[in-house]
This record gives sequence, C-alpha cells and structure tokens, in this order.
Amino acid sequence: MVVCRLLAVIRSSGGAGVPQAFETYGRTALANAWRSPFFRSRLLEAGIAEGEVPDLERFRRIRPTTKDDLRALTAEQFQSEVVIARPADVATVWRSGGVTGRPLFYPRARADYQAIVESFSRVLDMVGVGAGDLMLNSFPLGTHPLGHMFCYAAQSLGVGCIAAGSGANTPTEVQVQLLFDCRPSVFAGLASYLMHMGHVAEARGLVPRDAGVKVVLSSGEPLTPAKRARIEAAWGARLLNAYGMSECSMMGAECEARDGFHLWTDMFLVEILDADRDWAPVPEGELGTVVATPLHNSHATPFLRWVSGDIASLHATCACAGPYRAFPRLRLAGRAAGFSKVKGINVGHQELEDLLLRVDAVADFSIWVEEVDAGDRLRIEVEFAPGADQEAAAGLVTERVRAAYEIRPPGVWRPRTSRYGSATCASDRVHAHGRGQL
Ligand SMILES: [Zn+2]
Repeated sequence: MVVCRLLAVIRSSGGAGVPQAFETYGRTALANAWRSPFFRSRLLEAGIAEGEVPDLERFRRIRPTTKDDLRALTAEQFQSEVVIARPADVATVWRSGGVTGRPLFYPRARADYQAIVESFSRVLDMVGVGAGDLMLNSFPLGTHPLGHMFCYAAQSLGVGCIAAGSGANTPTEVQVQLLFDCRPSVFAGLASYLMHMGHVAEARGLVPRDAGVKVVLSSGEPLTPAKRARIEAAWGARLLNAYGMSECSMMGAECEARDGFHLWTDMFLVEILDADRDWAPVPEGELGTVVATPLHNSHATPFLRWVSGDIASLHATCACAGPYRAFPRLRLAGRAAGFSKVKGINVGHQELEDLLLRVDAVADFSIWVEEVDAGDRLRIEVEFAPGADQEAAAGLVTERVRAAYEIRPPGVWRPRTSRYGSATCASDRVHAHGRGQL
C-alpha cells in the first residue's frame, strides 16, 4: 500500500508533492462501495458505471449519506447492506462518535489497519512527538477508537505509551500519580479530562506544571480559546488538537500556527458543501458542511460522501513552515448539533463554555437545559477556585450570560471542593433534560 510510506515522503520533501486524492486513490473506495448493496444503489442512482473512476464533478452526483440514513436501517440490515467485511476479515468494532442519538457500530477490517495507524501516527509526528517521548494515553479505551489507535500509533513511531484510558479505566488519582512518578513528556486525552486532572492534582497539593508535560494532544471535543489558555497555563505545555471521525479515522491535526487542522487529503476526500443548496460545493474559505470519503480504510464500511455534521471552511494555504503545510487546512466552526434553544434563543455550547472559562474565578461548571412549566430554563452550576470572591464572580457570570443571550440563568454556586474526589470526566458538562437531542 502506498499510503504507509507517505509519512517519510512528506517529511523528506518538505511538504511538496502531496498527491491529488481522488484521481489517484478513488479506485479502492469505489470498488469497495460497489460490494455494499447500500452504496451500490447510490452509485447506480448517480449513473456511475462499475469500474469507472469518475471525475470529481460526476462523483458529486452520489447522494451523501447521513447518520439518520444509517439509523433508519435495522442492525441486521446494516450488517448485510452496508458492511462488506466477512467475519474472518474483521479486526475490531468501533463505536460512532458524537453525542446525539443512538450510537452506531462499525466493524473495522484488518486490511484497514495500515492506513488507520498511519493516520494516527501523522498526528503524533506533526506535533513533534517521536522516539524518546513517553505518552500518557488517557483517551477512553473501549469501543471508541481514540485510545487504542493512539497506542498503535505510538508503537509504530517508537513512542512509549502508558495505556491508562479514561478515568473509568484508571482512576484519576492514579493517573495524576502516573504523571508525577513516570514524568511522561506527552499527555494524550480529552482536554476537559486534563483540566479535571489538574484540579485533582491541586487538591492533593501538587502543582500541575511541575509534572513536566510538554505536549498535550487532544481530540474528540471542541476546544475553545479560553479552555486552551487555561490548560496551557496550568500545565506549562503546548496544547494541540486533532480532528477525525469514526466513519473515517484520524484526519488531520493542528500545526504550530494553530489555525485549523491540516487534513490528510491523500487519505480522505473532504468536501465542504451547502446542505441547503442540494449539497453544492462552497467556495474555498466559506463555511459549509464537512462531507468525507475514506479512500483507503474502507474494507468494512465503504462510506462514500459521509455527512459529518461538522461546519467548517477549507483553506489551501497556511502560515506555518511545517512539513505538513502542503495539506489544506480545515477550520472548524462548530458542530451543527452543538446548540440548545433556550427561550427561543440559540445557545452554542462552545461559546457558553468559552464565556464561563474566561471568568478567572470559575474552576469548573455544569450546564443544564431544563424544561420546566414556564418553558426552557438554563441552569448553571459553577465551582469556584479557592480564595475567589464568589459573590462577585457569580454576579459576573450572570451578567455575561444575560448580555450574550438575554437569559438570566438560575445559578448554583459552590466553592471548589465537592466534586474533586470523583473520577468522572469533565467533558460531559452540557446536559439536556426533557429533550431528545443535544
Ligand atoms: Zn500550518
């Protein structure tokens, strides 16, 4: 397979000469799709002939596939109509990401692994992690791919890897001890979880930045500027984010410019489309829906034109000088589902999180969107840092939420102590009551 050698090629070429994705690699993706009754019908509907590698314009006749399209299938239909791997070909099963609705489960074929490991390895390479580094891997170990695949990627690059998993796999207290005793140079995990670990460390009288972590690698959750600044200040480390989805694999990572993700366009065909204009492509730099096609790792679920639900813009160039600069840059604007309506006003989860974390006295928080007799209500629970003027901080939070959303939330304000004994991950902090989706 060509792709596994690209890492070396890209680095040695200084970023020049990244192949055009679809014309070069589309054949495998299409051949696999023809073997799936579900995608076969989409190809026929688009007027594409078996064996043909259409140009991009003709390829765009293929109807995009959404999560709801797959949810409309029974588990048996999914296995027989979408999945093409035989039982002997299946290496593992991944759970779909995202926080909305019923999860879907995707088999992954042995034939996919080389490309998948490559896609994760590039993230480590891009953020400067390599042989000689030791990484605490706190991504969840389970059916979600992040934890396991970063272990494989570390192995492939000669990076030491402590497979701790999330707080559910290894208690947070133990993970904090691992950081201070084994002194890994890299932390890989949800940024929210590292924030939580910082609080646990401080509650034990430890100073997070004394742990000596140099690079924090996050993925799988939105990262607001305030959250990034908080974590970098607390741990004295650079925080870089990576982008991927279970339907594809890891697809890109931030460079030093930290202005979007360089996408592995030799491995994934990424389109930015207008969902309201019959999936027409949007011009470079304009916002649209991210629609992705895995070109190599499609030997179990051969997705064609997968609608991710992410809203983003694509940019051909970047200000950085890194070896991955030839790959285009994806700037994420937020997940379409990351909004709640409260009293008729859209409340973006990321924006609200950013707003709260910009108040220095706020150590941690939970947000609840509730349905009460009088209509929707926003409830915010905030824990304050030790020594903070709680009354002033509570007033400031209330005022800023009111100014941003014209909503006055009922607040529950607590000093910072109560939750720190728990091993829960802090990433699931925006909740909904009485609603189907968030
Ligand atoms: Zn760059």
